[in-house]
Amino acid sequence: MALQQAQQTIHVDGEWREAASGAAREILDPADATPFALVAEGDERDVDAAVAAARRAFDEGPWPRTSTAERAALLHRVADLLVRDREELGLLESRDAGKTLEEGRVDIDCVAEAFRYFADLVAAESTGRVVDAGSPDVHSVVVHEPVGVCSLITPWNYPLLQASWKIAPALAAGNTFVVKPSEITPLTTIALIELLVEAGLPAGAANIVTGPGHSVGARLAEHPGVDLVSFTGGLVSGTKVAQAAAADVKKVALELGGKNPNVVFADACATDDGFDTAVDQALNAAFIHSGQVCSAGARLIVEESVRERFVAELARRAGRIRLGRGTEKGVECGPLVSARQRERTEAYVASALAEGAVLRCGGRRPEPSATRPATGYFYEPTVLDQCHREMKVVREEVFGPVLTVETFSTEDEAVALANDTEYGLAGAVWTADPGRARRVAGRMRHGTVWINDFHPYLPQAEWGGFGKSGIGRELGPAGLAEYRETKHVYQNLAPKPVRWFAG
Ligand code: NAD
Repeated sequence: MALQQAQQTIHVDGEWREAASGAAREILDPADATPFALVAEGDERDVDAAVAAARRAFDEGPWPRTSTAERAALLHRVADLLVRDREELGLLESRDAGKTLEEGRVDIDCVAEAFRYFADLVAAESTGRVVDAGSPDVHSVVVHEPVGVCSLITPWNYPLLQASWKIAPALAAGNTFVVKPSEITPLTTIALIELLVEAGLPAGAANIVTGPGHSVGARLAEHPGVDLVSFTGGLVSGTKVAQAAAADVKKVALELGGKNPNVVFADACATDDGFDTAVDQALNAAFIHSGQVCSAGARLIVEESVRERFVAELARRAGRIRLGRGTEKGVECGPLVSARQRERTEAYVASALAEGAVLRCGGRRPEPSATRPATGYFYEPTVLDQCHREMKVVREEVFGPVLTVETFSTEDEAVALANDTEYGLAGAVWTADPGRARRVAGRMRHGTVWINDFHPYLPQAEWGGFGKSGIGRELGPAGLAEYRETKHVYQNLAPKPVRWFAG
């Protein structure tokens, strides 16, 4: 991998170039706020050039016309290249997004897995569904075709993983695309474009424009040459994308935020092992990647009878999480991604305390240390007890290391609390009672429900949300279907006049 540097990070029609304006942006390491890369700061002109290239590649180029076997083979080659470059890409993701090196490596494994999954999915497909038209003179078949040119807009928390959930199915289905990574974490997506080129993807099929949301993202959402916009990010930007795309009825897929409940019944804590597991997983649910996870279990909803014991142990262990630069050995949590994200988190904690929440741990910036420069965007894992559903911190997505605690006494109350959110991305229920587990999971209005677990996902299973968590699904067969049009081909094998009109 030879990561594009010196501002040539826009890839259009097979060529790397600077922004049309010549502008560039410094990419900061969130562990110490120092710049470590420079990328092109594109604008609408770069988007127009990239969409034109993707349009030509779709309308006239070879990629949409390749066989599924060829597409699958290319996606497998990309997965092989990702495995080859795992260390380098994992390190890049760690520095760019502030996650630990191990998390960076795991992300790259998951990216390779997504490419392999969609490769195998298309390779195993039949060419169409023959429909019984009720006549031997008719051949009727339903086929799936690529949707066209796709705008793919991604966030900063899992930069390459979120991009791969779009790029792999888009290519598997035979589309061409323009991707816009988050302006603060674009590096691994740029590197992936290099790997797609190395794997042999024809020029124009994969294009990238680096730059901000208000210009590059907004133009990609409204561009008349685009057929589908797939967006992952926050609710506010997602709403703007949907509005822009609606002007000429583009297809839209939105993966937005979450305010995800982690419901713990007392019976899950009846044994020491059960208690330890539920606490451990509640920590993981809330604080992995410093809580900057769309499916973070940021709302602990715990049965009143075990609340004090559970929260005391949780706060004790949260207070011991080792914060530092993600690349340092022994560090368990990195910094927040930006100064803005830390300020946002601080404002939510301040509002919670003003509304009556009780601070059990954290709630401040940690002291600097050898692994934690004073200039880094670190924030201590924070547990806020005595929270209730009217609080802003309970209703809105913080996207930082902040866990709120609410309690319940009955199963109905637990379900009502878990569903009391405008989002509906993911949630979990912890219980030793299998009947209760199934009942509660069945009543939870969320796109993913975990029973006695938190966070695992499978590329074979759809990912996405109810309510304001989005529209559509990624991963699984539905994640491929997003990138396709469905066409019914009805062939009359013995045409005759219909004589509807007498003359
Ligand atoms: P964001 O909405 O600020 O930005 C996401 C992307 O959209 C970025 O590339 C940004 O430049 C671009 N953008 C911003 N304004 C735009 C506009 N008007 N038009 C087009 N594009 C625009 O989100 P973020 O802060 O980067 O990411 C955090 C959010 O992403 C959280 O809300 C999180 O829950 C969500 N997220 C959701 C999932 C999921 O699977 N549901 C996964 C990861 C992140």
